[in-house]
Amino acid sequence: MGKKIKKIAVMTSGGDSPGMNAAIRSVVRACAYYRTECVGIYRGYQGMIEGDFINMSARSVNNIIHKGGTILKSARSKEFMTKEGRQKAYENLKEHEIDGLVVIGGDGSFTGGVVFNSEYNFPVIGIPGTIDNDIYGTSHTLGYDTALNTAMEAIDKIRDTASSHNRLFFVEVMGRDAGFIALNAGVGAGAEEILVPEEDLGLERMLESLQKSRRSGKSSSIVVVAEGDKSGKNVYQLANYVEENMPEYEVRVSVLGHMQRGGSPSCFDRVLASRLGVKAVEFLIDGKSNLMVGLQDNKVVATDLEKAIKGQHSIDKELLRVSDIMTT
Ligand code: ATP
Repeated sequence: MGKKIKKIAVMTSGGDSPGMNAAIRSVVRACAYYRTECVGIYRGYQGMIEGDFINMSARSVNNIIHKGGTILKSARSKEFMTKEGRQKAYENLKEHEIDGLVVIGGDGSFTGGVVFNSEYNFPVIGIPGTIDNDIYGTSHTLGYDTALNTAMEAIDKIRDTASSHNRLFFVEVMGRDAGFIALNAGVGAGAEEILVPEEDLGLERMLESLQKSRRSGKSSSIVVVAEGDKSGKNVYQLANYVEENMPEYEVRVSVLGHMQRGGSPSCFDRVLASRLGVKAVEFLIDGKSNLMVGLQDNKVVATDLEKAIKGQHSIDKELLRVSDIMTT
């Protein structure tokens, strides 16, 4: 067991996600509960290098649980990728007598934490915050549930237009390497086809399937496409391809984009953030480090940070099968 933890710093890093504020609130309040001082670091690792710190008390996180984004701001820091940058960051932490760090972010942010720990033996705990849900060791990352619902509601609205005009809509959702949002929002919104990076459906099969649903009496259709799908075509090229082969359809494209990252977090994300923040502080106080707190079978569990970075969180293949059956 290391030295007693008296002051904990918290920061958000990488892409923002709904629920980050709720997690900051939880870390700050848990620190107050355990009579441990708490410092907020602005703009992730860049703020750590620049000493952009603020003392936080239980009252400094009033009224933020429902807000999207992050009050501590987020950033990507090239300087932290250098030894000199990390040295500056360490000196700032030492000067402020900070002896533990909670990083809320994705696998890049966790990699920064692991590197920092290996150089300075500085205690680090990670909280997974990204809408993509692509982190090993947790069934849900912070923000994923909110993003899913945002995407699903947007697709519902697009369906109103699609069915009024007998149109075929291609809707692109976020997910460069993972199809969690596409698959789940697609099934939830009753999409006719779902294209995810993990599976290459093949253009011919997609066409056949759309033709089949047309023959079965459907006059409009929605195809949900994850950003990183493996067809080799972007969403506009996919739409052109289908329009050329199915001239009976008017084809339209809608790219949902960054709206999926914003908005008030869902109840699920707020509760998850509250649970993970408390556990992160408790782990640090118990002398633990290099762990990520996550959710498995609805229990808060720890995973080695390195394992969380290297491991693969796979989409539910059974849900792909269900999606196929639903398009009958
Ligand atoms: P997102 O899921 O939104 O991409 P992320 O946490 O994976 O979030 P990154 O941009 O990959 O976001 O990483 C955030 C920051 O973590 C980087 O800007 C950098 O400062 C730090 N970081 C990432 N990899 C390393 C590394 N190998 N060494 C040191 N720092 C790193």
